[in-house]
Amino acid sequence: MKYKRILLKLSGESLMGSGIKTSIDHDVLEQYAAEIKAVRDQGVEIAVVIGGGNIFRGGQAEKLGIDRVQGDYMGMLATVINAMALQSALERHGMYTRLMSGIKIEQVCEPFIRRRAIRHLEKGRIVIFGAGIGNPYFTTDSTASLRAVEIQADVVLKGTRVDGVYDKDPEKHNDAVKYKSLTFQEAYERSLNIMDMTAFTLCMENKLPIIVFDMNTPGNLLRVAAGEPAGTLIE
Ligand code: UDP
Repeated sequence: MKYKRILLKLSGESLMGSGIKTSIDHDVLEQYAAEIKAVRDQGVEIAVVIGGGNIFRGGQAEKLGIDRVQGDYMGMLATVINAMALQSALERHGMYTRLMSGIKIEQVCEPFIRRRAIRHLEKGRIVIFGAGIGNPYFTTDSTASLRAVEIQADVVLKGTRVDGVYDKDPEKHNDAVKYKSLTFQEAYERSLNIMDMTAFTLCMENKLPIIVFDMNTPGNLLRVAAGEPAGTLIE
């Protein structure tokens, strides 16, 4: 394996699967758990940040007459729901896990404590970071970057439904060209939408590589963790 400690970022929306009948799809959970297990079985230490967009985003709050900060906390709680679902799936697949939250929810999970998170990883547990960083006006992409820096991960793996970074939106343009790799500077100058600026800058300033890859292709997570070319590497 090329990477010894990875931080995997999954979006909340990806949990819905293609059916969009339910906010959390059973088959997606099973697939993600199997993918994560395959990498864990190779001895890789794995931390996961999962978003909440399938349930609630702070950006939706205003049009519902909900205060933005209140909405952001609703979004953070949504990520905890997703994290709990993923935790159950991982445990069903025989993995040891810990859910650590950015806001205190004592009956459900541990608070995030950096040293403890690292210890869990060293013991082979999959650590899921829920509730973002615990502050409004941030995203789970920023959470992924920050937690990755804090736990000294080797790389942030951003699992999406597209297989990398393109020069334009591949879902809208047939002639979109995929980048195999990019420097942070190139991605910035070309205004490529990889992560929000806060998340992107944290990775850039801390020289933490990002790989954007298709999480829905079976075996891809293992390929990426092994350093095989899949997706786009930004370093
Ligand atoms: N959020 C927040 N602070 C954080 C992380 C998340 O306020 O540190 C809120 C924010 O409102 C965000 C929502 O939680 O819209 C869900 O996260 P996100 O939109 O990043 O989820 P994803 O798009 O990955 O599903």
